[in-house]
Amino acid sequence: MSGNVNREYFDKYMVPCYSPAPFIPVKAAGSRVWDQQGKEYIDLAGGIAVNSLGHSNPVLAQALKDQIDKLWHMANGFTNEPVLTLAQKLVNATFADKVFFCNSGAEANEAALKLARKYARDRFGADKSEIIAFKNAFHGRTLFTVTVGGQPKYSADFAPLPQDITHLPYNDLNAVAAQISDRTCAVIVEPVIGEGGVLPADPAFLQGLRELCDKHNATLIFDEVQTGAGRLGTLYAYQHYGVVPDLLTSAKGLGGGFPIGAMLAKEAWAQVFQPGTHGTTFGGNPLAATVANSVLDQLDETLLGGVAERHQLIVARLEALNAQHGLFTAIRGKGLLIGAELAEPLRGKAKTLTNLAAEEGLIALIAGPDVLRFAPALNIPLEDIEEAFVRLERAVVRILG
Ligand SMILES: *Cc1c(COP(=O)(O)O)cnc(C)c1O
Repeated sequence: MSGNVNREYFDKYMVPCYSPAPFIPVKAAGSRVWDQQGKEYIDLAGGIAVNSLGHSNPVLAQALKDQIDKLWHMANGFTNEPVLTLAQKLVNATFADKVFFCNSGAEANEAALKLARKYARDRFGADKSEIIAFKNAFHGRTLFTVTVGGQPKYSADFAPLPQDITHLPYNDLNAVAAQISDRTCAVIVEPVIGEGGVLPADPAFLQGLRELCDKHNATLIFDEVQTGAGRLGTLYAYQHYGVVPDLLTSAKGLGGGFPIGAMLAKEAWAQVFQPGTHGTTFGGNPLAATVANSVLDQLDETLLGGVAERHQLIVARLEALNAQHGLFTAIRGKGLLIGAELAEPLRGKAKTLTNLAAEEGLIALIAGPDVLRFAPALNIPLEDIEEAFVRLERAVVRILG
């Protein structure tokens, strides 16, 4: 059955909006993956910061199996036990008073942006609609979120686009201070820009955004789709930075590989979404909520405490590789979201390098054409990291020829 399926099917039967690797993963455990031919890979991509507890996590699997025999789906005309437990856990663990569940990061941001627009309109009138966002930011692929994202190449083809969105340089508080006004409805920011190149915010930048939003009654939204669920060593990045947003979006790692998204809100904001104003069929589905509950239960101090150690090891190995081969102009990031910007002669060749790395048995990510990105499982064994860098060096030697 599955033995006959091959990579050519993708080109034949699937909309070509991706260019997947030439091999097809069929099995995975922890941070190791095997393809159809039985070749093994170490996974430093983590399904793009999603498989926060590794592949085939036995505790997640058991939780899901137990729920599968009970209740799959009722839609939101009914609530369910797993989602109520999950909401309580997120409220108890964060600044939030209320949670809205959906199925992806884009949907969580769509909800936050819509909510911010309605909050401003309800309280201050229709003229307060400007959304301030940042260049190189990524917020998802719905028309609203892709327009708010800071890479026009992803939105221009879909015009006409949602209006009144301003893009400013990231980490430039003066630019925000010059632009923000009482017309500004919201500021949306990634605490560490992920897809756009792994760029951490300066603490003073986030603190300054908080103050400017307070001054102008604008909603501060942290897009923590990539930085959340333990990735920086705290449950959410806002806790690492000590700056509290009004709305926070979560997805990716929250489900450990099962699709779920969440928007966390302070009480006054939550009240804007009354019955009928927003919703989703699948959001907060019992299966997804069960898995997310199990993810949160496992993100204890030991697991989160191990993030710093893994960060240091990866950075040390990147620095060693750099000392040996002179590959990078910068190594940056926080927790287990790490980027390495390629120097000449490898500029623009991040994808070529990760392709070669895959041939050597290592799965890594890129963040734009110039940046290698690493977002492994938070519990990746240290020896897997060591072995990963042996394999990466083999790829580096090949690309340098
Ligand atoms: C991945 C990502 C999104 C989009 O999430 P999807 O689940 O792909 O819709 C939004 N914001 C950030 C910061 C992301 O990294």
